Amino acid sequence: MSETHLPSSRGADLRRWLRSSIGARIVALFLGLLLVIQVASFTAISASLGRHARSVLPDQLEVGERVLQSLLDAQAQKLTEGARLLAADYGFRSAVQSNDAETIVSVLENHGARIGATETALLGTDFIPRAASGRELSDFNTQIKRLAARATGASSGNASEIALLEGRPHLVVLVPMKAPVLVGWVLMGFPLDARLAADMKSLAALDFTLLTRPSANAPWATAVTSLANETALGLAAGGWLTPASAAEHERLRSISLHGVEYGAHSSWLTPPALAGDAADSGAAVAAVLSLSIDEAVRPPQDLQLALLLITLVGFAVFGLGSLFTARRVTTPLRDLADAAERLGGGDYATPMRGQRRHDEIGHLAQAFEKMRVSVGEKQAQILQLAYWDPLTALPNRVQFRDAVREAIAKAAGSEQSVAVLMLDLDRFKHVNDVLGYQFGDLVLKRVAERLGQQVMREGDMIARLGGDEFAVLLRCGDAALAESVAQRITRAFDDPLTLEEHTVDMSAGIGMACWPQHGNDADVLLSRAEVAMYAAKRRTAGPLMYDASIDAASTQTLSLLTELRQAVEQGELRLYLQPKLALDSGRVAGAETLVRWQHPQRGLVPPMEFIPFAEQTGFIRVLTMWVFEEAARQWLALVAQGMTVTLSVNLSTRDLLDQDLPQKFDALLTQHRVPAEAFCLEITESAIMDDPQRALGTLNRLSALGFKLSIDDFGTGYSSLAYLKRLPVDELKIDKSFVMSMETDIDDAKIVRSTIDLAHNMGLTVVAEGVENAKVWELLRELNCDLAQGYHMGKPMPATDFVRWSLGWEARQLGSAVALGVQGAAQLH
Ligand code: C2E
Ligand code: CA
Ligand code: CA
Repeated sequence: MSETHLPSSRGADLRRWLRSSIGARIVALFLGLLLVIQVASFTAISASLGRHARSVLPDQLEVGERVLQSLLDAQAQKLTEGARLLAADYGFRSAVQSNDAETIVSVLENHGARIGATETALLGTDFIPRAASGRELSDFNTQIKRLAARATGASSGNASEIALLEGRPHLVVLVPMKAPVLVGWVLMGFPLDARLAADMKSLAALDFTLLTRPSANAPWATAVTSLANETALGLAAGGWLTPASAAEHERLRSISLHGVEYGAHSSWLTPPALAGDAADSGAAVAAVLSLSIDEAVRPPQDLQLALLLITLVGFAVFGLGSLFTARRVTTPLRDLADAAERLGGGDYATPMRGQRRHDEIGHLAQAFEKMRVSVGEKQAQILQLAYWDPLTALPNRVQFRDAVREAIAKAAGSEQSVAVLMLDLDRFKHVNDVLGYQFGDLVLKRVAERLGQQVMREGDMIARLGGDEFAVLLRCGDAALAESVAQRITRAFDDPLTLEEHTVDMSAGIGMACWPQHGNDADVLLSRAEVAMYAAKRRTAGPLMYDASIDAASTQTLSLLTELRQAVEQGELRLYLQPKLALDSGRVAGAETLVRWQHPQRGLVPPMEFIPFAEQTGFIRVLTMWVFEEAARQWLALVAQGMTVTLSVNLSTRDLLDQDLPQKFDALLTQHRVPAEAFCLEITESAIMDDPQRALGTLNRLSALGFKLSIDDFGTGYSSLAYLKRLPVDELKIDKSFVMSMETDIDDAKIVRSTIDLAHNMGLTVVAEGVENAKVWELLRELNCDLAQGYHMGKPMPATDFVRWSLGWEARQLGSAVALGVQGAAQLH
């Protein structure tokens, strides 16, 4: 099974190899073509040689026949000469005449041996043998009858013939012996043997066969042949050895023996006697000249050798040539493939080879080179973008994180620790919004420079994590080092930045965390530093090292959020109202709605304990909607009880950033059928300044809906009245910090007074909050302040108490007015 499998798999291997290698295919093609050419020329040469051989065959055979004849003639001549010499020999003659038998035989022997005749005999005039060397006289009887007849008929008196002696063909001559009358005949002969065949082969390049037949009915036998005996007999068969008189072309044949084709020509050496010669035994000798056509057609060995040599040399030359060509093609291709692989592997540094070639491959290499360069540049750009901050040229978050990781890995082996500082600039958004992004970018660059000046140790890293967030990595740095660097950075921020004629105060919240105390890997460490940073920003008490309690606080935060959500869903929130009173008439002009949380365990929770948290988490939006809807309900309830007042609702930064807020409010107005004019929306300056553009958009839309707008806590922020003028506000609420102390602090009183004047000039209503005593009330009234709010008049109270309180207040007002009136009357008297 494996034997049949093996070659086929080897064939498949070869096929696969050819398919996978251009070089192999080129070499195979070249050699294949050469092989085809060689086979074709060999076939053509063979065919042409064959045609030629066949066409010259008859001539060649005929020439052969003539050669044979002349060979036989020459030998007959030699024999005749010998016989003549013998016949003329004096000693022999006298021996014949003296009938000296002994001498005769010895002379016959001597002469015969001299010329190489095997047969020598003396015949009487009647052709009866009288003496012979070696042979019985009777042997000659029948065979020489025809020779004798011809000799007597011939003018020369001698004759030659091929005769069968004891079945073997001999060349025999007969010469007369005269003294001077005929006294007898001398006979000489020798057998035809292999030498004749060899002579024919070398002279005529033909195979020679001598066939003999003792009688007419006997089969042919080979006497001499240069062929294999069997082949010789095969040539004799087929009955084509026709009578002597047969035409030339009949004696020419093409005979096929054992798949080999022969051309043959026959001739009689001793023809069978012609018909009518009754005494003839029918003995005959025939010569067959033959030629193997296949051999003649086969190109001569030297030609074959030459062809083979040409083929071999051709193969070698073509093989080397095609190998060289294939190399020229495949080596650069392989180079290109290698290069492509290198590019794929991210190696853009190694230049392409083969660019100097002027052919297609050179063009390809050049194109590759261009690609390599441009891809390399792009890659570098990408790397730059991926790891560097383009604005400050500092490492970015990705690189920083990697560096922290690496620092931790390094420190892990030693006793050392790693510290990370994280900074977030305060009010950067404000800078961006007010002074423009370009200016903001300059500030960031300057901050980056300042940070660089504070962190001097080699191996430390400053990075910009994004926006206004920076980070510092202190390799081998402990908490103490982190604290000192943080303090240095804080001090560096003390000097204001001066840029393009602007002076900006910059500060930053800084959080710190150390490995391994605060986290066991880079990500945890970074997130801990961030937690510390946010906590530091909230506390505004300088840099803060991470501590588990900070996280605990944030865990509390989470549960608080859940609780707050429940508070809204389960109706634990209460809306309190704090009256706003007209200073001139003492009338109840409105109320500020203030939220309280009726906590099931903690009791009434003041807003300062959950409002800032709600603002941080964004939950304030839900809360604001609850307050507004509740305010709408209360307003309707008050109207139902005959009180038409303006209810103030507080809005936070997040509310102002909510683009949908006006629409949501409007929907609630429609739902509860209340007018927008019934509400005043209180917004702090800082809420507006966080994102002035968006805030302005929201304010404009709220104002357009008909809401009154009020600036809350006025005086605590940075905004100027000139800026507020651009806002669609109706009311200004002076912060309680100024109002509460205005009776004792002359500066605060001045601030309150000028604010009231300016606001009036701008057509705004002025509200003073934090009125805690009658003196302040009186002062404000003198300053023409419009409205007052404060514990002196009324603390925030459940909405249900408000109507009753109002009635009581107005009654008290009336009473005091009456009292005043009485007082006045008394003075008059
Ligand atoms: P605010 O908007 O400035 O509200 C006025 C705060 O001053 C109220 O505190 C009020 O009780 C207090 N107050 C009023 N008169 C006096 C006075 O004569 N003396 C003193 N010392 N304080 C006085 P409250 O109710 O604790 O609210 C605190 C802050 O919580 C509010 O300050 C407001 O910013 C926020 N807040 C309360 N309710 C809401 C609300 O429903 N929505 C939003 N967004 N914030 C609210
Ligand atoms: Ca308020
Ligand atoms: Ca206020």
